[in-house]
Amino acid sequence: MKSAARAVVQDTFGRPLGSLRLSVTDRCNLRCSYCMPEAEYVWLPRADILSFEEMATLAGYFADLGVDKVRLTGGEPLLRQDLARLVRLLRQDRRITEVALTTNGVLLADHAQELYEAGLDRVTVSLDTLRPERFRQLTGRDEFSRVLEGIESVGKTGFDNLKLDTVAIRGFNEDELGPLIEFAKHYQAEVRFIEYMDVGGANEWSLEKVLSQERILDLLGQQYGRIIPVPERGTAPAQRFCLPDGTIFGIIPSTTAPFCAHCDRSRVTADGVWYLCLYAMSGVDLCKPLRLGASAMEMRELIRSVWTARHNRGAEERKALERVGLRSGGLIDIDRLREDPHLEMHARGG
Ligand code: SAM
Repeated sequence: MKSAARAVVQDTFGRPLGSLRLSVTDRCNLRCSYCMPEAEYVWLPRADILSFEEMATLAGYFADLGVDKVRLTGGEPLLRQDLARLVRLLRQDRRITEVALTTNGVLLADHAQELYEAGLDRVTVSLDTLRPERFRQLTGRDEFSRVLEGIESVGKTGFDNLKLDTVAIRGFNEDELGPLIEFAKHYQAEVRFIEYMDVGGANEWSLEKVLSQERILDLLGQQYGRIIPVPERGTAPAQRFCLPDGTIFGIIPSTTAPFCAHCDRSRVTADGVWYLCLYAMSGVDLCKPLRLGASAMEMRELIRSVWTARHNRGAEERKALERVGLRSGGLIDIDRLREDPHLEMHARGG
């Protein structure tokens, strides 16, 4: 379908189908306590994992209906062999104007060059601490120096819009907000603090551990002085702020000020299940019809009909529960998670 004929598909709240997160694997080489703290999980069956060609075909159907940004995530996307090949396949579709990657950075130094040459537009590295010992404590792995190498490789390769995503956790890294901003400055990167979310269930979330946007601004204000909001938002989840010296940083207040009203993103798991919301309990299996030979028209119609019926506002609903005192622990019971691996954040992509 040519771009001129592209349908603009909107859900029941008028939110367009805009940004697609493709989780390329549910496996990860770190065990962050807020995401994937257990040693072993019920993994998605290998035979069900989509090939890169299948992922690109699906992305094409989404592009027919308005998607113009694709973010590769996981699990850890760089665990997937030759990820650059998927980037090249996606880049062949002119309607997809941006292909981005979210990674923990451990394997980034080995792959930054080939990803850049394949046409990857943006890299976001998750980095929650600058202290090697804290990193080991948080992730269960001694990989801090490799993450640093990964971050350094991004600039050397030619990428110019590095983002660093930090999950801000009360009692864990609130003393590192300033140092992380300074670190990001050094690499011409922009740091974004993400409020700790109660996604999945094995992640030991509690409201007390959430370092709120308000508190983040308060702590940074004490250190830097007056902080001014940058007036823009659109469908981007981050609210950006400016320090007195002009440094920009972002906050994603997913827990205290959810951005459901503008959410144009949806997620496809590595085995082709499509989730309309990070908090959704079930998704739509796109792998089955694809492998059974559904036509392009049938696939498009399936995606279109599901999106036009979308009414999810998962983060706002969680917030509403909080108001009546019913938001205490994780979202999903651990036994239920063991039965359905899709329900964890590492399966559906953060
Ligand atoms: N492995 C890659 C990485 O580390 O960036 C991509 C997948 S990871 C699930 C994507 C993002 O989700 C990371 O930035 C991670 O910090 C974030 N994340 C995971 N669990 C979270 C939680 N409970 N609250 C907030 N952010 C979370």
